[in-house]
Amino acid sequence: MSVEDNLKPSIMLISPTDIELDIKKLEEQLKLHQDQESDNVQKIKEDMQRLWDFVSWLRVAQVQGVWKSKTCRHSINGRCNAWNVSEPERIGLSSEYVEAGSDNIKHVVVERYPHFCITCPLYEAKRS
Ligand code: SF4
Repeated sequence: MSVEDNLKPSIMLISPTDIELDIKKLEEQLKLHQDQESDNVQKIKEDMQRLWDFVSWLRVAQVQGVWKSKTCRHSINGRCNAWNVSEPERIGLSSEYVEAGSDNIKHVVVERYPHFCITCPLYEAKRS
């Protein structure tokens, strides 16, 4: 090996044009990712809005259930006397919301589970 060989620079020269092209490619990729991210964020916002709409509908239903459970003439001491739920589990009702009356009929405790009243067709306003 000659002395000149040892003096050769080990640095590889890159043209500024190559670097500019690389930066341009990176910028395009970044823009693409930002656009995709923006689409994803927009989709998540729309899904969240749908969920809020659904939850607000449930809240309205819940308020109406509470109102019906308090104003229905079949609701006596917090229990519904109109329905006999002999097998609560078959209709998806937890047994913690059911009590057997002196007549041995199982009544829904609407005071604790007013959801039961939401779609009830037997509602009748209490007469004063
Ligand atoms: S609305 Fe229906 S479930 Fe509720 S207390 Fe009246 S009769 Fe019973």
